[in-house]
Amino acid sequence: MAEPTIIDGRCLAGRLRHHIAEAVARLREEHQVTAGLAAVLVGDDPASQVYVRSKRRACTEAGIASFEFSLPSDADLAAIIELIGRLNADERIDGILVQLPLPGGVDPRQVVAAIDPAKDVDGFHPLNIGRLWSGEPGLVPCTPQGCVMLLHSVRAPLAGAEAVVIGRSQIVGRPVAALLLAADCTVTIVHSKTRDLPGVCRRADILVAAVGQPELVKGDWIKPGAVVIDVGINRISTPDASVRLVGDVDFAAARRIAGAITPVPGGVGPMTIACLLRNTLLAACRRRGLPDPAALSNEMMVV
Ligand code: NAP
Repeated sequence: MAEPTIIDGRCLAGRLRHHIAEAVARLREEHQVTAGLAAVLVGDDPASQVYVRSKRRACTEAGIASFEFSLPSDADLAAIIELIGRLNADERIDGILVQLPLPGGVDPRQVVAAIDPAKDVDGFHPLNIGRLWSGEPGLVPCTPQGCVMLLHSVRAPLAGAEAVVIGRSQIVGRPVAALLLAADCTVTIVHSKTRDLPGVCRRADILVAAVGQPELVKGDWIKPGAVVIDVGINRISTPDASVRLVGDVDFAAARRIAGAITPVPGGVGPMTIACLLRNTLLAACRRRGLPDPAALSNEMMVV
């Protein structure tokens, strides 16, 4: 088998972020608009603080204004929704993201439903989910959007392809499946109750793994030449007591069979923040009736 293409998510995300920065600058010059992203952090979860900091850095690099709003860990639903109401009304803010998970007791669905769908840059609002499944334009969840852009980067023929998505979460599996369906793939979603998981996976021209189980997908689950997108991020302990990141796919085995494959780390991960910036820019344009910048299309990912 020829060596597969290793899909370099860091490089592609860097390219996308460069295009975004250019389009953000144009929006400012031509329309005197600075795109703005607000992050809402409830409580003091250290991992969430790290994520919010890295999003702030990414915004700064792209020329997007970033705003942070922190609430104490005992903030109730009413307090969070009151804050979101103010952000919905704030013209400087084009995108609102609420860092999940929320402290116990607060229903994230009610929080997300309070966000103006036009500012819902995570793409989790029920209206945007409905638009995605109906094939209408809306804001699409970032990691799934990143997966599809990576597929475009290797010119994976999407129309008519057999696509299998492992995992049916709201944030990855389902929206990836909706995007692949919109791209005319024949889509199968598999999950923990699926019978003969390896057999279904072996049919896939495009295999997306979003499971959260280290190296679940073995080499002999993969159809020769398939494009494999590994969304999983799993921390495993090594014999020397250090921690290693692995995906949901046994990369060493899969690379001998696949036509193209994303590594972990350095595959899907970097695309997620890039797509958050992309959504913020799209929201800034659409809220003002401006066309989507052409440089943000899937096709720009083709190398
Ligand atoms: P999740 O909400 O836990 O969903 C996991 C899905 O996998 C569920 O649908 C579950 O099936 C299915 N599943 C679990 N074990 C299975 C098995 N043995 N066989 C078949 N299906 C199985 O996870 P998630 O939020 O979608 O995340 C998935 C992975 O992606 C995680 O490793 C996460 O860290 C990673 N992730 C990465 C990024 C990124 O930026 N790269 C972003 C988000 C998530 P049931 O529905 O039947 O339980």
